[in-house]
Amino acid sequence: NKEMLLIPGPTPVADEIYDALASETWAHTDPRFVKIFERGIALTKEMFHTDGEVYIFAGSGTLAMEMAVVNTVAPGEKLLVVSHGYFGDRFTQLGRAYGIQVETVQAEWGRHVDPDAVRHALAQGGFKAVTVTHVDTSTGVAANLDALVPVVKEAGALFILDGVCATAALEEDMQKTYGAPGYTIDVVLTGSQKAIGVPPGLGIVAFGPRALKARAEMARVPAYFLDIDNWRPVMENPGRYFATPPVNMIYAYRQGMEMVMAEGLPARYRRHEALGRAVRAGLAVYGMRALAGEDVAAPTLSCILYPDGVDDAAFRAKLASKGVVVAGALAHLAGKAFRIGHMGNVTGAMFAEAIRRIGETLQELGHPVDVSSAVARFEAVYGEGR
Ligand code: PMP
Repeated sequence: NKEMLLIPGPTPVADEIYDALASETWAHTDPRFVKIFERGIALTKEMFHTDGEVYIFAGSGTLAMEMAVVNTVAPGEKLLVVSHGYFGDRFTQLGRAYGIQVETVQAEWGRHVDPDAVRHALAQGGFKAVTVTHVDTSTGVAANLDALVPVVKEAGALFILDGVCATAALEEDMQKTYGAPGYTIDVVLTGSQKAIGVPPGLGIVAFGPRALKARAEMARVPAYFLDIDNWRPVMENPGRYFATPPVNMIYAYRQGMEMVMAEGLPARYRRHEALGRAVRAGLAVYGMRALAGEDVAAPTLSCILYPDGVDDAAFRAKLASKGVVVAGALAHLAGKAFRIGHMGNVTGAMFAEAIRRIGETLQELGHPVDVSSAVARFEAVYGEGR
């Protein structure tokens, strides 16, 4: 019996993906491997619905953030960071490390950034790009793309979307227009380990035409491994060499993407939306409230505030001993909340069981809660949403 790994990534890995990962390692130039890599790239393009380019490489989400920024914003240029929490703020530090002039608009944790504050910041002029974290993994807030994309596009800046905690669970369609022709997302970056359901190890970045034009207009970028000009020949023909690709991770990713596309994007988005609502509704029966209100809450993970008197370390340790692993909260919420991922290749049955074990944990820690009502509430809300 596998552990239920319900942290905000990595997420539970399906057996088909483990099997792919454990397949024989072929040469990275072997035509059989080249076909697999090509298929992984094609499925990724389909998922993002991009008419641009996709890059898949060894690394974590942070390296993908770095690839997105370094190929679009030159040192000395201006970047606006729209932050809904810890991972939004990471772009500020990353941009500064490259000598980019960074300004940040921050939301109160658990709330949306006010689009007027973004408009106001952009009114200073001269911003090359804006970063938005689709789901901030520290707060469980999903950004409001309908509101933010038009504001950024009116200012003529590139829209860079961090999909690490969203891709394959929330729509990230790079040809969708938000309010006016040409108002589209220019770059989406992500990692393999969250809603795609593959182990950690790959960065994935999709660049739309305007972002590629920005790269073409820079004579050089302050990077070598991350320079997409170095990777482009490989992504066009994976039989070519720039740096050795992680062959087995590409097998696993291809398999993961087959599963994403076989489920179908609309069905997968609906499943995550229903799961998020149901998990929050079920936990509310225990007096456990999500930091993010239902109007801003993410389908992929929730940051859940403890009711009075529940000790974080004791709760998570006891729950882990029952085979359910959740994560602690970050920064000022550490000890006051926990984070539960509900994304990737997971099922309603898994979460009904997780909610039961969470209730039993609370009972054993001396908090009388109604386990069967919570599980019933979860099942009712999940059933309605599917
Ligand atoms: N962005 C978001 C939204 C994330 O959740 C994470 C990881 N939790 C990252 C970026 C960084 O990814 P990684 O830890 O894989 O470097």
